[in-house]
Amino acid sequence: MVNRVCISINNRCNLNCKYCHFHEKKDAVKAHEMNVFAILDNIMDHITINNIHVFKIGFVGNGEPLLEYGTLKEYISYISEYLADGRIAAYSVTNGLLADESMLEFFKEHKVDLGFSIDGISSIHDMYRCNTHTKVMEKIKLYQKVNGRYPSMNCTVGKEILENEDEIISFFRQFDTRVTFSRMIGKYGITLDEFNGFLKKAASLLNVRTGGYDCTMYGGLCGAGMNNFFYSNGRIYFCGNCVDLPALGESSMPVSELEKISLAFDRTRCYKETICV
Ligand code: SF4
Ligand code: SF4
Repeated sequence: MVNRVCISINNRCNLNCKYCHFHEKKDAVKAHEMNVFAILDNIMDHITINNIHVFKIGFVGNGEPLLEYGTLKEYISYISEYLADGRIAAYSVTNGLLADESMLEFFKEHKVDLGFSIDGISSIHDMYRCNTHTKVMEKIKLYQKVNGRYPSMNCTVGKEILENEDEIISFFRQFDTRVTFSRMIGKYGITLDEFNGFLKKAASLLNVRTGGYDCTMYGGLCGAGMNNFFYSNGRIYFCGNCVDLPALGESSMPVSELEKISLAFDRTRCYKETICV
């Protein structure tokens, strides 16, 4: 049963991170009209018809969501009843630069989890993420002030993190929060085995997202074509990494059509990497 989607609400960013894989997919992520309200209507119908207890929506994708804060706010308000009673759990992930107190209050009021991308210590973060460590830490502290706890954090794991794993793990330990580590892919990428070795150690010391049918980039099994789909550029894809593969349909397609998809492959490997080698 489809119980989770990511919706990419834009294709632009205020950063130019060295490893950003959307830069390599620029041709594939050309904007087409996408009616996000119609997608949300389809999802709310799907929840009601199938009596789904919690449907997860990530407002994440090809760019920085807070650049479109005005429209993001409208989308969140549109599903606010579902958020209030817990039938939808929504989240987004930001590079943090644009976050301000009123935005953080809005996300808090609507129970939308806002994660922050930070690659651990400044020497590594700054090298890949445009010297923004100090600014991101200021916004993480602002989040803590508004919410009384630190936000969930997302860290991309490349070879420098593998070489400094103890320091990276100590950095995240101070926040006592959930950390999503993702494998760096593309030209600076590391292998799945290297990543899984790091993740095993990190998971023994931190609250780390792992396991299940989700994505091998986060330490799980590949969930392509199962319960989780990605909406972007007016179309639907298996995941954010698959936007340069043929789309599964238009974004207006009813969710029930996605239930008919069936893929057989070794789910310990990435579907995209399996079919593209
Ligand atoms: S903040 Fe995210 S979307 Fe923007 S350039 Fe960096 S990795 Fe890419
Ligand atoms: S195809 Fe690869 S990137 Fe996409 S969900 Fe599967 S493991 Fe993750």
